[in-house]
Amino acid sequence: MSRILIVEDEDKLRRVLKLYLEKEGYLVDEAKDGEEAINLFSPITHSLVILDVMLPKRDGWSVLRTIRRESEVPVIMLTARGEEDDKLFGFDLGVDDYVVKPASPREIVARTRAILKRVQKLKKPKNLI
Ligand code: CA
Repeated sequence: MSRILIVEDEDKLRRVLKLYLEKEGYLVDEAKDGEEAINLFSPITHSLVILDVMLPKRDGWSVLRTIRRESEVPVIMLTARGEEDDKLFGFDLGVDDYVVKPASPREIVARTRAILKRVQKLKKPKNLI
């Protein structure tokens, strides 16, 4: 079963996302700020990270850079409108996808599912013949 880390300081959005993802059968961990995210993240445990850009203590970019030192885990960034210019910068850091806020939880879940499906396909061993 895939375990997902949600990093979002808005309680309401974080809770709704967690509910939607759990309904899809995912296990979910939550972090409310950048420091908590770094402490919670484990390259072995988490299959995907949903990461807000504007966070208390450490912003999403800083969290992403730290994660990338030890892991190629897929990351979906949540950006506010007007932060779109950051996208090119983000792709350099290995962001897999973006969702612009206000974000629909359904859209985030659909993107999560699509990325995990792609990753799992790549991981599947090839036939030997
Ligand atoms: Ca935020």
